[in-house]
Amino acid sequence: MHVFATGWRNWAGNQEARPAKVVAPADAAGVADAVMAAAAEGRRVKAAGSGHSFTGVAVTDGHLMRLDRMTDVVAVDPPTGLVTVQAGMPIHRLNAVLAEHGLAMTNLGDVDRQTVSGAIATGTHGTGARFGGLATQVHGLELVLADGSFVRCSADERPEIFDAARIGLGALGVVTALTLRCEPAYLLRAVEEPMPLDRVLDGLDAFVDGNDHFEFYWFPHTKLALTKRNNRVHEDTPPQPVGAFRGWLDDEFLSNTVFGLVNRFCAAMPRLTPAVNNVSARALSARTYVDASYRVFCSPRRVRFKEMEYALPRNAIRDVLREVDAWLRRSGELVPFPVEVRFAAADDVWLSTAYERESAYLAVHQYHPLPHGRYFDAVERIAVAAGGRPHWGKLHSLDAAALAERHPRLADFVAVRDKLDPNRVFGNAYLDRVLG
Ligand SMILES: Cc1cc2nc3c(=O)[nH]c(=O)nc-3n(C[C@H](O)[C@H](O)[C@H](O)COP(=O)(O)OP(=O)(O)OC[C@H]3O[C@@H](n4cnc5c(N)ncnc54)[C@H](O)[C@@H]3O)c2cc1C
Repeated sequence: MHVFATGWRNWAGNQEARPAKVVAPADAAGVADAVMAAAAEGRRVKAAGSGHSFTGVAVTDGHLMRLDRMTDVVAVDPPTGLVTVQAGMPIHRLNAVLAEHGLAMTNLGDVDRQTVSGAIATGTHGTGARFGGLATQVHGLELVLADGSFVRCSADERPEIFDAARIGLGALGVVTALTLRCEPAYLLRAVEEPMPLDRVLDGLDAFVDGNDHFEFYWFPHTKLALTKRNNRVHEDTPPQPVGAFRGWLDDEFLSNTVFGLVNRFCAAMPRLTPAVNNVSARALSARTYVDASYRVFCSPRRVRFKEMEYALPRNAIRDVLREVDAWLRRSGELVPFPVEVRFAAADDVWLSTAYERESAYLAVHQYHPLPHGRYFDAVERIAVAAGGRPHWGKLHSLDAAALAERHPRLADFVAVRDKLDPNRVFGNAYLDRVLG
């Protein structure tokens, strides 16, 4: 997120806001005062995380509330694994705090720059067929509502608010603190291996069910994929982190510096994209290492891109990928960015993309200066026809009517919103579109 003199811009640079005012309260009481002050002026309020959403979910023309003065630990209870943090804490800081107490998150997405509240509000997830997204690790929430009142919720306390507010899209109130259900710190053995795409798809169920956290990247215009298998190891296993040089080479130089140059080259010489993708996919070599879970899950992403991601019924992913491949061949569209495929367990969070459904996630990216519209539209048509649900923080074009067909609890969510925020103090244009 970039806050400048007259406005705000997200990480990808595709969303800008011109808020009437930027406020940065220091605590929950300050949040309540700021919400009431905005409402008294007839302005809307939007809490912003770190601007890592690609949609306009965090955009406002009212009062933009930054939570970068609310980043502290509130309570840690190692025996139960319950950890309460203020809502603005960035995930990388959360990971460090948990490690200090011998704890860790059960699963994480692939970057750690988001705030805890921002990531959870849009349904951020990682991969692993037995694991849910971050919202499934929430034990309780504290919110400031539109009238400035405070409310706490969990599975035992106001469960109907809890069901809605875990993935709340910023629509129900400002979350001031979250209690997360963490587990004892653990190591993961990471095995990264390039593989023919057909081998991945033929053995997909064994890969997905036989590993704690399986994902793969398919290089468009090729038949090649990079697979990642992360598995928990016994607590006696010694860590074997990637060496400093290899880590820099793979995660910084190749994945960021060279990848950035590759994308710039493809933007200038689009016709060479298939050849470049073939070289990129073959240039990747296998590696195995053992490290703290959060260091395996998250890595730096410095090449800016735009992204769309759809959650599909798990067994639809092979056909959807083949259709995307066929469309790319037919259309001549050229895409230098790999397509990412991940998996998640079914969960019970009302607006989760994996609500009551085992899911496969298909994420398509485009280098930020290149047009993404034709590619994303085509993939969206294929994903929607397969019953897909879009990630709330990533680009998509669905409106409330289309979303209601694929989110069985959307109407329940809107009913809670009607109760908690009847005047839409926390509304914005994106919420008008997706919630009606
Ligand atoms: C490089 C990159 C990698 C990513 N990787 C993944 C991934 O692996 N998996 C995945 O699922 N997604 C991923 N995402 C998407 C990202 O996790 C989500 O868009 C997430 O919501 C961003 O969090 P944020 O802190 O930047 O929040 P923002 O984008 O700033 O805000 C998101 C929403 O949260 C609301 N919000 C924030 N704080 C509060 C609060 N205190 N109270 C109420 N509402 C609040 C905002 O109002 C807004 O509605 C990635 C995005 C990028 C740019």
